[in-house]
Amino acid sequence: MTKFETLGLDKPLLDAISDLGFETPSEVQEKSIPILLEKETDLVALAQTGTGKTAAFGFPMIQKIQSESRTTQGLILSPTRELCLQITNELKLYSKYIKGLNTVAIYGGASITEQARQIKRGAQIVVATPGRMKDMIGRGMVDISKIDYCVLDEADEMLNMGFFEDIKDILSNTPDEKFTWLFSATMPKEVASIAKKFMHKPVEITVGTKNAGASTVQHEYYQVGGRDRYPALKRLADANPGIFSVVFCRTKRDTQRVAEKLIEDGYNAGALHGDLSQNQRDLVMNAFRKKQVQMLVATDVAARGIDVDDITHVINYQLPDEIETYTHRSGRTGRAGKSGISMVIVTRSETRKIKAIEKKIQQNFISKKIPTGIEICEIQLYHLANRIKETEVNTEIDNYLPAINDVLDGLDREELIKKIVSVEFTRFYNYYSKTRDLNSSEGDRDRGERSDRGSKGGDAPSNGSVRYFINVGERDGYDWMSLKDFLRDTLNLEKEDIFNVDTKDSFSFFNSDAQHTEFILQTFTEFKVKGRFINVEVSKDPGGARKGKKRDRKRGHRKGGDGGYRKGGDSKSFRGGKKGGSGRRGGKKRPGFY
Ligand code: ADP
Ligand code: MG
Repeated sequence: MTKFETLGLDKPLLDAISDLGFETPSEVQEKSIPILLEKETDLVALAQTGTGKTAAFGFPMIQKIQSESRTTQGLILSPTRELCLQITNELKLYSKYIKGLNTVAIYGGASITEQARQIKRGAQIVVATPGRMKDMIGRGMVDISKIDYCVLDEADEMLNMGFFEDIKDILSNTPDEKFTWLFSATMPKEVASIAKKFMHKPVEITVGTKNAGASTVQHEYYQVGGRDRYPALKRLADANPGIFSVVFCRTKRDTQRVAEKLIEDGYNAGALHGDLSQNQRDLVMNAFRKKQVQMLVATDVAARGIDVDDITHVINYQLPDEIETYTHRSGRTGRAGKSGISMVIVTRSETRKIKAIEKKIQQNFISKKIPTGIEICEIQLYHLANRIKETEVNTEIDNYLPAINDVLDGLDREELIKKIVSVEFTRFYNYYSKTRDLNSSEGDRDRGERSDRGSKGGDAPSNGSVRYFINVGERDGYDWMSLKDFLRDTLNLEKEDIFNVDTKDSFSFFNSDAQHTEFILQTFTEFKVKGRFINVEVSKDPGGARKGKKRDRKRGHRKGGDGGYRKGGDSKSFRGGKKGGSGRRGGKKRPGFY
């Protein structure tokens, strides 16, 4: 087995490595370190998260840098503040026996003057998020004109987060002669183009198969109606007692909402997303590490850098926009030689995405059914029996035993068992005994997403759906999913209220129920994003093609605004058994837009 000693590292680093308890280099370290130490070259390294990329660039950078000089010689760009701090801490540990070597972290949300002061004291290595870096360059607070090495860490994620322009700007302040080392878990075309644009004949290293998820992970998908995502999530959790999971949502809003609902419903859940304060995020992560939180509901960005090893399940509450993101998500489980399951909840229209993911990860999904209420009751019952069997007896009880015996006097063993189990089980049984099947069946007449809407009763008769034209499209960076998110967030409607989103180059179409038309047109009157008018009109052609008619817009007052953040109406109870109940949709109030 290779040892760190054979890679060409000097004693101070080897001593630090031994203090850290690293025994053998990981594959990406074994491949990168000798090359980076021996050659002056650009490098592209692809390796999954958790494979030790920080040391793969950190060790060589530390060794190559002149600690006697105070000039900034190494720059590491990383997508988030958490990663930035994580890398900085790691580098400090690696360089603990090298006198005078300073690593400074710069990132948003903390005092810029304090960071500038630290840089001024001399920082040979700067670890930065792109936004703050650009800011500090602009203010002349940091000089990267003499760097020798630049690392783009988690390059795919940085580009995902829209940092391309910032990175370009930052690199334009660095010398042409520097060497660039790019590290990424995946290689989408954006990363390939950055490598092409900013790097010179990079050496390429790939650990494992390109873009492949860890093979210890089993991938499963569950097809449900769009409105059944949440009950489906609950069932998946209930069918897996002892679950320790990350649940991925696409937006911060969904993340917060799903976490809140789970908490209300009695699960040990927590939310992790960028709108939380650092302190809140630390709290939830600590609780997760201690397994006090069993279901961590997270956005992709916030979940980056979660270094928890024994996650049993990753649940994709919604699929990500980018297929590459799926590999990041599923890579959160099946770590450190353990096996894991990555579950995806999809609507029928999304199943084609599963095919695309299968191609990417070169692994097949298993199509599974959401367990029925009775199946869950069974699982819970056996789980409970096992828990009783394995529970260590608390000897303190001995003192009370005579009294307890008095209370339970006259119950035989069988009755006693039934009663003990019932204490916990009845709660589940009451939930599940009358619920319906959540699996969306082939017989549904509409698209899966809308499968349960056909029989809508109540007081809001809909004259079918209305198709709209909107003057933004793929050129503005939208695809159908992100446009749907944008519309839904802007209008504060449910996801299922916007459908058939179809993006073209410079414009797009979408549908909603007729009842929302006035509100939608009203909202998009004089509506600007970043100074640009966003314009929605009713499309005359229900099929999609625009026939540029003048819009006929009602300018009435919007109705139904209650201004609040609506809590899920059905969060406390299952919807099962209520199907076809009157006014299920019609009576819902919409929060106001402003
Ligand atoms: P990545 O950047 O690839 O996601 P990290 O560099 O953050 O991975 O490393 C993941 C974890 O593995 C860290 O806790 C790190 O300290 C640890 N680690 C890195 N290299 C080794 C090694 N050779 N032996 C043991 N642990 C390691
Ligand atoms: Mg990393």
